[in-house]
Amino acid sequence: MVVINRILDYHMHSTHSWDGKSSIADMCASAIDKNISEICFTEHLAVNETDPCYGFLVSDPYSADIESCRDRFESQLTIKKGLEIGEPHLQKDKILPYVADQNIDFIIGSVHNLNGDDLTLRISGRDQIKTYTPYFRELLDCVTKGDMDVIGHFDLMKRYAFDLQGMYRHGDYEELIHEILKKAIARNIGLEINTSGFRSSSLEIFPSQTILRKYKELGGEILTVGSDSHWASMIGNNIPPVYLMLKQIGFDNVFSYTQRQPEAVTI
Ligand SMILES: [Zn+2]
Ligand SMILES: [Zn+2]
Repeated sequence: MVVINRILDYHMHSTHSWDGKSSIADMCASAIDKNISEICFTEHLAVNETDPCYGFLVSDPYSADIESCRDRFESQLTIKKGLEIGEPHLQKDKILPYVADQNIDFIIGSVHNLNGDDLTLRISGRDQIKTYTPYFRELLDCVTKGDMDVIGHFDLMKRYAFDLQGMYRHGDYEELIHEILKKAIARNIGLEINTSGFRSSSLEIFPSQTILRKYKELGGEILTVGSDSHWASMIGNNIPPVYLMLKQIGFDNVFSYTQRQPEAVTI
């Protein structure tokens, strides 16, 4: 029997994110109920004025809530403070004060917009190539220039395009995907495995297993796993089966971050 030692959830949004529904305290309590040992809040940050989260996150109250829950749940749960930054490769001067904050443990870099448009607006009818190529190109730019610890939900476009186009054909973007993976490895940037894909119609994690296997083959090691919960009840969802899948692929660890330094945790 395979025993899972510890569960870490490294992607979640509290009411400090524009779309989060539960308080930090409620999310911590839920994590403890579910025997999760470590969580990292990754509140949305965008400096692009067209993004719905623009201007929503305020650093001081976010820090205060984290500190108060660290005191309250000290012996039961490790609580990390992170950010999910939308397009961290753009307007870097505005992002710098946030990424330079010593009290930030972990940063997810995500592409949520293309040229300021939400991804849902960039689905090109039934044409997969016109839909996914600009997305993966932007992700390559993001991982080449942005400051982040992991790439968020690598093939996120499938969340929005699947209903109209079905699953994308990996082979059509293979070169671009490999370039992204190689650049990430060269820059010590990991991949996030985001289990919210199971809640979307593709019923598949981000990134696909094909991408994860290629990452392993190219020498990639750094992985985090997150539920992308926006509700306390969803914390930890589908993380144990993902750990088992990772073991089958040949990964032995996920990573924990403290002040942006990764540390391997055996799964
Ligand atoms: Zn995201
Ligand atoms: Zn998120």
